[in-house]
Amino acid sequence: MYRKFIFFTLFTSASILLSCNKAKQESKQNPEGQTDSIATIAPANNAAQIMAKPQVPIICYHRIENGRNDEYTVTPASFTNHIKTLADSGFHSISPDQLYDYLVYNKTLPEKPFMITFDDSRVEHSKIAAPILEKYNFRGVFFIMTITYNKKNYMTTDQIAGLAKAGHTVGLHSWDHTMVTKYDSLTHWQKQVIEPKKKLESITGKPVEYFAYPYGLCNKKSAAEMSKYMKLAFILSTKRDSVQPLHTVRRMIVPEWTAQGMIRAMKKSF
Ligand SMILES: [Zn+2]
Repeated sequence: MYRKFIFFTLFTSASILLSCNKAKQESKQNPEGQTDSIATIAPANNAAQIMAKPQVPIICYHRIENGRNDEYTVTPASFTNHIKTLADSGFHSISPDQLYDYLVYNKTLPEKPFMITFDDSRVEHSKIAAPILEKYNFRGVFFIMTITYNKKNYMTTDQIAGLAKAGHTVGLHSWDHTMVTKYDSLTHWQKQVIEPKKKLESITGKPVEYFAYPYGLCNKKSAAEMSKYMKLAFILSTKRDSVQPLHTVRRMIVPEWTAQGMIRAMKKSF
């Protein structure tokens, strides 16, 4: 499945590049009416080459609120301090599109790149997180569990559309948070990935090409299946799969840490 996907990606990318080059060359003939030799085409990296590249630190938040004390929650004050410290320390947020182009085509990233992601479609992602990110010129990635549309404590479809409009990336986190390892028929994939992806695309007006696995968990079979629908899929701090590194991209959950503690953990974990 994966080989097919890579082959398809290589084939289509190469075809597009070839046709672009052809177009350029036709308008750039030399005086003898001959074209110069074909320009170098950047081939896509294979899985081993992707694995060999330095990982970009990716952090993950769930709840941002006061009065809870668990590993999935930070207070609004800590969150603000994390973001301000990242900005003051010269970090630049990157989008999943940039990460993909870096991993697959060796495109350059800004200095001190990091990615910031949010799971579970909580309302504070739109009300608290996005405005703070925008204040420091960062953009985030918001993974939506689509069963929560317009429910109490969760984002409305308008708020989700607003994130996309403000330059953030909207990704999918399944329909109802069922673990992907439990999808054992096309019906499951339809319900949890294919249909929610379409719906999210209609809400945001943009392609939805990135997925965060519920509970951060997948296996070889589900990662291979995921590669049919998404450009990248994200796990948590477990190991990447050497055959499918694009569909087992690592992230680190940030709990109620100091900002400096978080930056140390980012260096250590990636
Ligand atoms: Zn989740």
